Amino acid sequence: MVLDVSRALQQLGESFPFCIEQETLTDRQAQRLPTGVSIGGVRVDGFFIGARDIVFVRGSANARIVCECARCLQPVELTISAGVHEVYGHTPDPNEPERYAFHGHMLDIEEQVYSTLLLALPIRTLCREDCAGLCQTCGANLNEGACTCHGSD
Ligand SMILES: [Zn+2]
Ligand SMILES: [Zn+2]
Repeated sequence: MVLDVSRALQQLGESFPFCIEQETLTDRQAQRLPTGVSIGGVRVDGFFIGARDIVFVRGSANARIVCECARCLQPVELTISAGVHEVYGHTPDPNEPERYAFHGHMLDIEEQVYSTLLLALPIRTLCREDCAGLCQTCGANLNEGACTCHGSD
């Protein structure tokens, strides 16, 4: 997820729109996902503005994710989105720990985009509000109908 910000470094104060799409995760990003969660099709829309050797990146990241229903463990597909508000600089500033370093005119936003998306992951997902879950005894999916042991205890 690399942005070429050379124009922003020449025309300071002007905003340059961008749109980046990434279909598959790098191994490093995939390892950071909680078990049972997978992300596909990340898209970031935004713009960047240069100010001396600093570049501001603003936008929103959207990702399709698949996770497990907390009750019946069936896969649930949903879309999450998160705001991207980052500052990148050529020289590190100890007073600005939130400023990320970049070199030249290529700026890699992948790390910040995925960190932001991870925070936007739902803690608990249900396939539907009234999901019946699994039978505690036989493990049958009760959304598909009552099992033979259900209700006998
Ligand atoms: Zn469910
Ligand atoms: Zn049962």
